[in-house]
Amino acid sequence: MKQVAAEARREERVLGLVPTMGALHEGHLSLVRAARQQSSPIVVSIFVNPKQFGPTEDFQKYPRTLDADRAVLEKLCVDYVFAPSGEEMYPAGFRTAVVVEGLGERLEGRSRPGHFLGVTTVVLKLLEIVQPRLTFFGRKDAQQVRIIQQMACDLNLDPEIVVRPIVREPDGLALSSRNAYLNPSDRAAATVLYRSLDMARRGIAAGERYATQLLADLRQVVESEPKVALDYAEMVDADTFEPVVNLRKTCYLLVAARVGGTRLIDNALIEPAGESFSVTL
Ligand code: AMP
Repeated sequence: MKQVAAEARREERVLGLVPTMGALHEGHLSLVRAARQQSSPIVVSIFVNPKQFGPTEDFQKYPRTLDADRAVLEKLCVDYVFAPSGEEMYPAGFRTAVVVEGLGERLEGRSRPGHFLGVTTVVLKLLEIVQPRLTFFGRKDAQQVRIIQQMACDLNLDPEIVVRPIVREPDGLALSSRNAYLNPSDRAAATVLYRSLDMARRGIAAGERYATQLLADLRQVVESEPKVALDYAEMVDADTFEPVVNLRKTCYLLVAARVGGTRLIDNALIEPAGESFSVTL
């Protein structure tokens, strides 16, 4: 992979990298299409990164569909699929970790200790191996994107980080490889995350600015769904990921919940728009 990437750089081509854990869905493919528009050649990495799963999480059962993924990527004219083994990425004796302090301790980081250390370590490795001009991430994992941007800034990384919108099912559910775990009744219940964010969007459109009120309404929607257990719901500053009291600058509404045995996350981006705010789900 390093040789192929070096060759592309020598030819002054704009190398694009889309890092994934596979089990590809339209969310991933939207990143691939964006990459194709802005770069050539493109590399899609597929690696179920053990370091970002906690000891009680779903690393073993995480869906692995490499053959199907390859076929889809071939159809989309992806130039290279980089699918290293665990041993190649973390050979015996591997000792290094990348920690971005302060941004990864709350929210996902609190619910999933060690998760972001695994993410930043593998993303830095992928960026070093491929050294792309552009790399593409989804806003679905908003805290992850913020942490990766901070790492890129702090470590003087060259790749430009392109962030793409959340791709949703027609009923609003954010696409996720973990949606494959949901049985039909879980699947129906899971839309409550979107519905709760949509409730907040309507609240903001009606003039509500206080996090406590927006979050109370949002929680009420989630709690109306008995199959869903809320992990957290917070309104945070988009830069610091610290809670905000009321809407002023760009914020995220972030939700995480368990549906049956499956943990799902979702968010809404809230941006100042003139006197008001625009809310993007
Ligand atoms: P994953 O395979 O879950 O590690 O995701 C790989 C990339 O796809 C990450 O940058 C995710 O944020 C992005 N992604 C996952 N789901 C979606 C979605 N529904 N819409 C947009 N991007 C997504």
